[in-house]
Amino acid sequence: MTSEFEVLVVGGGPAGATCALNLAARGVEVALLEKESIPRFKLCAGGLSRRAQRNLGLDVSAAILNHVDALELLGHHRLRLRRESTTPFGSIVDRGRFDAIIVDEARRAGCVVIDSTEVMKATFAGSDAKLTCASGETFRCRAVVGADGTRSVIRRSLGLKRLKHRGVTVMFELEPNGSFTLADNVIRFDFGVVKHGYLWIFPRGKRFSVGLVTSRDRLRDPKGMVLSYVAEDESLGSFDMRFLGGAVAAFWTGEHALGNAGTILAGDAAGLVDSFVGEGLSWAIRSGQLAASAILSTRKHSRSYHHLHSAYLGLLRQEVLPELRRAFWFGRFAYKCPEPVFKMLSRLAHSRDLLGKLAQNEIPYRSLIADMLKQLVRRR
Ligand SMILES: Cc1cc2nc3c(=O)[nH]c(=O)nc-3n(C[C@H](O)[C@H](O)[C@H](O)COP(=O)(O)OP(=O)(O)OC[C@H]3O[C@@H](n4cnc5c(N)ncnc54)[C@H](O)[C@@H]3O)c2cc1C
Repeated sequence: MTSEFEVLVVGGGPAGATCALNLAARGVEVALLEKESIPRFKLCAGGLSRRAQRNLGLDVSAAILNHVDALELLGHHRLRLRRESTTPFGSIVDRGRFDAIIVDEARRAGCVVIDSTEVMKATFAGSDAKLTCASGETFRCRAVVGADGTRSVIRRSLGLKRLKHRGVTVMFELEPNGSFTLADNVIRFDFGVVKHGYLWIFPRGKRFSVGLVTSRDRLRDPKGMVLSYVAEDESLGSFDMRFLGGAVAAFWTGEHALGNAGTILAGDAAGLVDSFVGEGLSWAIRSGQLAASAILSTRKHSRSYHHLHSAYLGLLRQEVLPELRRAFWFGRFAYKCPEPVFKMLSRLAHSRDLLGKLAQNEIPYRSLIADMLKQLVRRR
């Protein structure tokens, strides 16, 4: 059976669901195809900045597990910096529930949501695209948004190269068992454990997530590194650990296309992730919104979607791509020489405040980097 829509969005994560919601709300005939049954499990620590929450503009309180009031930076178990904030840095969300809230809103706005349907390939002929699913069902449309995560089928169908800068991440769930010292409103990053990355401990309701991420694609025994880290830290108290999974992280760093003609990529499918801190939720939401804006402006000015990719790139270049590029270079520097960065931040009070604001997504990397340089020059 073949169904036809004006736009097909592949992937019901935050990027795809936000895009579908914004299109349906403006009267576009759109369907969202998701391979899992919604709500689905997504491996994620669930850290959501305040700004991302504000940008999304939906009531996601039903998905919030914890509010984050403090941020700790460590260098191999040693506390180096702690920032507290009277307005929370952000929240920890349950990804299954969070993503389902956005999908439900999209459905309410008029989007046709088709879950448990895996897209196997996309073929392009003239101004039309055809998506073939594992069930044998086919869909035709005039524009496609590939928001199908790191292993994007849409990216592959376009013949685009896989993203060059790749990383590794693993995650455990830690359940306190008797006395446990970490509070449920603090997020902790330890930059002294893994090269080009960090280990995190985030609250997760009454439990915690512990994991590591590195922006290098080869790492021996990441699971063992996490297990020995928590075993070494006697101050944590007693707990049980459960392995939740591992994933490949892929980062856009400037050299890759983000679509072609009437097909565009959003969120993880495009590698739109902050490679310094591994934050992807706010970029998935923002790129989903910009994908929808590009579709709306293209259909307003033209009968075909041939220029959709260039319209989308134009929007991404205004706010998303420069920031991700700065995150990449800042991360490269900070991971190469963590000691000088810690020292600089501990001396520069104003930059420390800005670091807190950066964590809340309230200021861009540009402001933090410029402030650090300015203060260093002043001190000389
Ligand atoms: C261990 C870990 C911890 C993380 N922690 C954080 C964090 O604390 N904060 C943060 O901001 N980011 C975090 N991230 C990153 C964040 O999870 C991603 O950046 C975010 O999920 C990207 O959203 P997305 O919509 O682009 O992709 P996804 O959320 O991956 O959604 C893609 C969707 O597409 C569907 N799909 C895939 N292939 C197909 C197909 N062929 N057909 C149909 N559907 C398909 C998938 O089932 C999925 O539902 C973490 C990532 C990992 C791995």
